[in-house]
Amino acid sequence: MVVTIDGPSGAGKSTVSRKLALLLGFAFLDTGALYRGLALAAQWAGLDASDETSVAAWLEGLDLMARPQDGRFLVLLEGRDVEPFIRNEQIAGLASRLSTQAAVRGHLLSLQRQAGVLGDLVAEGRDMGTVVFPRAEAKFFLNASPAERARRRFRELGAQQPGLILEDVLADLNQRDQRDASRALSPLRPAADATLVDTTLLDQAQVLALLLEKVRALAGRA
Ligand code: C5P
Repeated sequence: MVVTIDGPSGAGKSTVSRKLALLLGFAFLDTGALYRGLALAAQWAGLDASDETSVAAWLEGLDLMARPQDGRFLVLLEGRDVEPFIRNEQIAGLASRLSTQAAVRGHLLSLQRQAGVLGDLVAEGRDMGTVVFPRAEAKFFLNASPAERARRRFRELGAQQPGLILEDVLADLNQRDQRDASRALSPLRPAADATLVDTTLLDQAQVLALLLEKVRALAGRA
């Protein structure tokens, strides 16, 4: 069974998706980490991200993969776990810019689908229910007000970046959402058959309970 969880940043996808996978005994795939891993590789290579032809040629030699380990997929760049290097706004912005390019999306599409053939999966991202796993048995689209999403991002990032300002986080988030939702390829939007969940006034436990109940009901019906 594949469960997809899409939505903008700060909608509360990450922790809930991870916990849902754990409770269901499914593998967890964070596809944003793949886009961020690709952005990290581009940054390390000194690539001009706006030059689509160079990006497409560079992708052919890129050694990026998602490897299952202990119930989740690790994103490896040349065999190294990218996690310590990708959780910052600079990489997020670069990932968002690169994610508009067809060659980038095509490259990552096959990596994501490979993860889906290995067994039960919770996949989190922007286009899981619409493009990557259109036949998923359970689809969710999480959202929250921009102000609440910015507050959540601010809390997450604040510990690592002491000088951070909430207004800047909100502006970055709005810019990234706008780009993700308006791009021609796989724009951020709910699948027609997705369950919409507004998390603005819900805590993580409430969102998790809601998703778990729905997945169990769908699994019982399958
Ligand atoms: O989810 P996360 O914030 O880690 O994603 C970083 C960026 O990667 C997003 O802003 C989006 O541009 C891109 N992305 C995407 N499709 C996905 C996952 C992420 O375009 N399935």
